[in-house]
Amino acid sequence: MTNIDKLLRLQDTDKNLLRLKRDARTLPRKREGLVSRIEQLEAALKEARDGLLHQQSAIKELELDVEATKDRVNRYKRQQMEVKDNESYRALETEIREAMRSIRIAEDSELELMQQLEDAQKTIDVHAAKLKEEEDGIQSDIVDIDRRIKEVEGQISGVESDRTELTDGIDDAMLKCYEAILKNKGDTALVPTNAGTCGGCYMKIPTQLVHDSKNPEKMTLCSYCGRLLYFDL
Ligand SMILES: [Zn+2]
Repeated sequence: MTNIDKLLRLQDTDKNLLRLKRDARTLPRKREGLVSRIEQLEAALKEARDGLLHQQSAIKELELDVEATKDRVNRYKRQQMEVKDNESYRALETEIREAMRSIRIAEDSELELMQQLEDAQKTIDVHAAKLKEEEDGIQSDIVDIDRRIKEVEGQISGVESDRTELTDGIDDAMLKCYEAILKNKGDTALVPTNAGTCGGCYMKIPTQLVHDSKNPEKMTLCSYCGRLLYFDL
């Protein structure tokens, strides 16, 4: 097996490794996105429920107010029956009128809040349905991602040990050159010279380079992109 053949085999493995490492980086981010989607849906539901509770306690408070004011009115009415002079009677009459007015205001507010309760319940139902609809799918996606993360970790260590074996017997200078180019380009280090063009940057390369690339034991670099060239029939 020529050095170029060995490097091509290594390159396949390296591409696989790059893909796996990319997955190892992106999968946890995908997982975070899914978790935060669920949190978002739960928070929206909680907010809707809190809104309803808030309205219910405001209604309760108004009811208590109304009850207390009604008691006060009854007390004024009893006092009216006991007072002897007109002035005190009229003063109580004014108090009663004021109290009745505040009861009406409180009852109007209560009615308004009761009508809003219906909307608040609808909002809760919408958010609860949305959570229910999405949650199962998201949870199973998370399970899939967790499984894939474990798989990828195992595959990376397997491929890395394969890689060590594959580098055995490759000319040291060629291997170093290949690795430096791969690191620099991030995709492909070894490219074919197809019909006189570089398979990496697609520039037309000098005839001499095409000729040189026919020797699989010789390092020939593209004069434009610097990738290692090999002749592909
Ligand atoms: Zn090139």
